[in-house]
Amino acid sequence: MKKKPNWNLERPDWDTHFMLQAEIAKLRSNCLTRQIGSVIVKNNRQISSGYNGTPPGIKNCTEGGCERCLGRLKGKVQSGVGLERCLCTHAEANAIMQCALFGNSGNTRDATIYSTFVPCLECSKMIISVGIKRVVALYEYPEDGQTILRQANIQLDILKKAGLLPWINVLKSSMINDNVKNNYI
Ligand SMILES: [Zn+2]
Ligand SMILES: [Zn+2]
Repeated sequence: MKKKPNWNLERPDWDTHFMLQAEIAKLRSNCLTRQIGSVIVKNNRQISSGYNGTPPGIKNCTEGGCERCLGRLKGKVQSGVGLERCLCTHAEANAIMQCALFGNSGNTRDATIYSTFVPCLECSKMIISVGIKRVVALYEYPEDGQTILRQANIQLDILKKAGLLPWINVLKSSMINDNVKNNYI
């Protein structure tokens, strides 16, 4: 069993820290099919984040906004079929677009993207085009963009979920055990 971290002495390493941020971004996902979170990091600073779901102003996928995802949930659409009809924007694409929205666009060069899944082919193409140099992910899947990422010499590192769980437990226990008195010492 993994040793429980002592929060006062130990800190998560950068990869663990930013993957935890990606997990938190994932909580905002509004997609019925799969929930993904991403963050873009430059010089150990988070410059943007994203999660998957329908674009702003479009009915949330969870409220029936995307017919393809709804069909998938009801078993009427097979996995991987009709992706071109999906209205949900992927987490990585949203994180990249957030850089454009807030004037951070040049900063994606040589940056790292953390994603709770290995990016798909489309997102991998965007990652390459905006100059991101490293991808850190938690899960791989058969149709992901690993091949093209490798061709573009982008470093891909897969983290183990087990490395994140002790820190999630630290957060949980610190929130449960928090008392106001201790906060003011
Ligand atoms: Zn969706
Ligand atoms: Zn994607």
